[in-house]
Amino acid sequence: MNLGTMEPTAEKSENGTCGLCEVKWPCPFLLEDDLALITGGGSGLGLAMARCLAAAGARVVLAGRGEDKLKQAAASIGPRADYYPFDVTKLHEAPALVDKVDKRFGPITVLINNAGIHLKKPAVETTEEDFLKVLTTHVLGSHALSRAVAPEMMARRSGSILFIASMASLFGIPNVVAYSAAKSAYVGMVRALATELSPHGVRVNALAPGWIETDMTRNAMQGDPERQKKILDRTPMGRFGTPDDVGLAAVYLSSPAAKFITGVVLPVDGGASIGF
Ligand code: NDP
Repeated sequence: MNLGTMEPTAEKSENGTCGLCEVKWPCPFLLEDDLALITGGGSGLGLAMARCLAAAGARVVLAGRGEDKLKQAAASIGPRADYYPFDVTKLHEAPALVDKVDKRFGPITVLINNAGIHLKKPAVETTEEDFLKVLTTHVLGSHALSRAVAPEMMARRSGSILFIASMASLFGIPNVVAYSAAKSAYVGMVRALATELSPHGVRVNALAPGWIETDMTRNAMQGDPERQKKILDRTPMGRFGTPDDVGLAAVYLSSPAAKFITGVVLPVDGGASIGF
């Protein structure tokens, strides 16, 4: 893969390697036989992950509520990308989505549970309705889709389910009680699903992005320079992340290169989770 252009460049060379490194072909970092369903794939991190997975050879199907956004996103990736409008909170519709994708493109080999909403509100002002909305989107929505793809993956003894967790899964952050509860639930879900599915060849992991420059973070930071400074002061690498930083980590965890990795929550955070 050309990391500058995100175009796949690897080709089998005469000595049986891709020419980028000495690993024997087929390169374990490529996803050429894969079909990835990415929720929230129309923007931000979901789109970046879709772009990186496509550059590594995968076909990608983007799912989200806004059809125009999805259409544009798929077009920006090119012929390896398609989309289905889908609301992850419509839990009972998950099996039908998986079925439609399967019939049109073939079996889903990679599921990325990325769709999410942010809610910045003091805990004492957070209502049950707020809380349920965030939990339904993140926790129940990703469970419903994971439940829908898992049987086929287990039958094929192969597959990867990736959750997009957060720094809020790892430590306490003020004013995000519902979001933190939802993202912390991912950690439990990843561990529980890994123990159930991995004996059948399905790997289940999470990425915990640090502070990455997307609309979601920009909105959360708006007018809060103190918060920005606090984040950068605790990040050893001294910068916000880029969506491609997360995309490349998603390629790795979804690829055969990570074939013995399951049940982990990998921070992609420039060291923010260990910074002082
Ligand atoms: P965006 O707002 O750009 O992306 C969120 C995506 O989720 C959108 O494409 C949105 O599309 C989709 N979405 C929201 N609700 C639903 C729904 N009910 N059904 C289907 N799709 C839905 O933000 P990010 O890219 O930043 O966030 C992506 C994920 O990464 C989230 O889970 C977020 O919590 C997580 N994250 C982000 C970090 C960051 O720094 N940006 C840090 C840590 C975690 P639409 O509205 O059209 O449905």
